[in-house]
Amino acid sequence: MIAPFDYHAPASLGEALELLDRYGEDAHLMAGGTALVLLMQQGLVQPGHVVGLRNVDQLQGIRSLDDGGLELRALVTHRQAERSAQVQSYAPVLAETFSRVATVRIRNQATIGGNLAHADPAQDPPPMLIALDAQAVVASRQGRRRIPLDEFFLDYFETALQPGEVLVAVELPPQAADARLTYKKFLPRTQDDYATVSVAARLRLGDDQRCEEIRVALGAAATVPVRARNVEKALHGQLLSPDTIREAAALVRDEVDPLDDLRGSAGYKREMARVWTERALLELLAR
Ligand SMILES: Cc1cc2nc3c(=O)[nH]c(=O)nc-3n(C[C@H](O)[C@H](O)[C@H](O)COP(=O)(O)OP(=O)(O)OC[C@H]3O[C@@H](n4cnc5c(N)ncnc54)[C@H](O)[C@@H]3O)c2cc1C
Repeated sequence: MIAPFDYHAPASLGEALELLDRYGEDAHLMAGGTALVLLMQQGLVQPGHVVGLRNVDQLQGIRSLDDGGLELRALVTHRQAERSAQVQSYAPVLAETFSRVATVRIRNQATIGGNLAHADPAQDPPPMLIALDAQAVVASRQGRRRIPLDEFFLDYFETALQPGEVLVAVELPPQAADARLTYKKFLPRTQDDYATVSVAARLRLGDDQRCEEIRVALGAAATVPVRARNVEKALHGQLLSPDTIREAAALVRDEVDPLDDLRGSAGYKREMARVWTERALLELLAR
């Protein structure tokens, strides 16, 4: 049973920030409610004040930026992002990543801001957004700040968001036309499950065919999404071949730190992290 609480429906970001300030630790933000309501039902979160964000227009919308980047505001649902022409034209694989979240019913309700703030390490968008060098835009009554997404996740269900802060948007930089992108979600159980392991990767080759830019990020592989920096370092500047990729992908074993759970043992997931990293990179090389 959910403990009683007062529900507030601010009509502006300023009003929402003012409510967070007024009620401090007793206040909790709610967007789509798909994660929060479950936590409240289990008694893991028991706020005296729930601040519903749904009426805050400033948190709605998807915008292509003048420099070719993309802004996804916090209340955009996964379904809106999946079907958005702007997201498609920015990077079709980003739209595909949003389409891999749970079921249509959840995607219609769950928001991008809620997904990132919830910080379950098995979620789909974070590794892809990290591979795209996204930044979180965060507001408080003191002003705004930007947090690179690979520094946003601190621990299991813990982010760099401070009390009194609202995640306003995610900003993505322009992508080079020749950037190759992929998202792999390993789903041995059912299509609508959380990933057993997921891998997002971005590769750009220079004129000499050497690896000029590389990003590799994994989900469900530790208490936070993991940016595989050693894999990236091993490939950067190299002439890529299946052998160099195989050797680099093996390094991911020491970069992940998976948890034992119903989707597999830590040892199995470590091995799957290697396998899916190698597959993702081989696919990008072959394009
Ligand atoms: C059955 C089921 C299956 C799922 N499967 C998947 C899956 O396959 N892949 C996947 O990626 N995810 C999956 N999810 C997780 C889902 O993506 C999250 O529940 C959802 O994205 C949370 O968004 P929300 O808008 O509902 O957030 P809420 O539940 O409203 O909030 C979640 C948390 O974020 C905070 N919050 C919300 N908005 C903001 C904001 N703007 N600023 C600061 N804090 C904020 C809230 O205070 C709360 O702590 C699944 C969830 C369910 C229930």
